Amino acid sequence: MTGDEIREVVKATLSDLLTANADGLTPAGGIGVDASCRGGILPSAVHGNTSDIISNGRQDASPTDCIPLEVSARHVHLTQVALEQLFGAGAVLGQRRMLSQPGEFLSDRRVKIITPGGELDGVAVLGPVRGAVQVELSASDCRRMGLDAPVKLSGDLSGGLDVTLQGTAGTYEAKGAAIIARNHIHCTPADANRLGLADGQRVSVRANTARPLIFEDVPVRVREDFKLAMHVDTDEANACALTGNSQCTIHNAQFCEREAAGNFDDKKDCPPVITDKVITEARAKELARQRGDCIEIPKGCVLTPSAKDVFLHAHIRVERT
Ligand SMILES: [Zn+2]
Repeated sequence: MTGDEIREVVKATLSDLLTANADGLTPAGGIGVDASCRGGILPSAVHGNTSDIISNGRQDASPTDCIPLEVSARHVHLTQVALEQLFGAGAVLGQRRMLSQPGEFLSDRRVKIITPGGELDGVAVLGPVRGAVQVELSASDCRRMGLDAPVKLSGDLSGGLDVTLQGTAGTYEAKGAAIIARNHIHCTPADANRLGLADGQRVSVRANTARPLIFEDVPVRVREDFKLAMHVDTDEANACALTGNSQCTIHNAQFCEREAAGNFDDKKDCPPVITDKVITEARAKELARQRGDCIEIPKGCVLTPSAKDVFLHAHIRVERT
């Protein structure tokens, strides 16, 4: 190692030591933070749990790592045409309650969903009206009605199933509209930046609930007018014992979207090759968030002891190329 390289490593190691406290290792406030972040699990049960580092690259989750975990119950989105067919000419959607995503509201209308296999009455209609009718159901709902609907992200109706909607003034044939709503994370560009996320990225997310659960392959949606939240359906909410103030944290980031679709292109889709000469704790955390369970680093690259710890606790294998 040259003198310059040695100086660089010493500097990086010192900087790791100096920033350790700012990275959530201080005990002050830790218990309170943990309790709120984990939706009410006893602080003693979670404090000092070193496996936490897997979920967020830190010993203790800071409040800034927490994402509100919210349940999205079965609901319907209507077009103006469908709304009028169901509730009469000139029908409008009145606002009963605003929802967590800005502009979205629970309307004062309810519909019945009818299929050859069964019916669901009193299904909420969300507003405002949209460009396409969409019926978002849980897998349990579908089972009850004999539907084999695909799991799709809201807005993607490819493979959606036909159902009949009934309102007070008539029925509407919702063709290809029924899907099982896929879980997802809404965030603003600022949240995405802070959490190290990108639009379209898939991540695994840990529900920090009384019955903790890891959701894999969760799409991230970034938009200026979103509010930070992870949305799950009622089946998923029940599976993890979600409560009104539940929170989740990013468990690991993945680059699996194209891989899953079978058209993964190594050259285009692989994250850029790591060329760092030195990897500090901060850089290791950034990489741990972005990469899968193995990281390839150049032969001569130096890992500071804290950086090694980050990879070790995140169960990420380091390979020299
Ligand atoms: Zn949502």
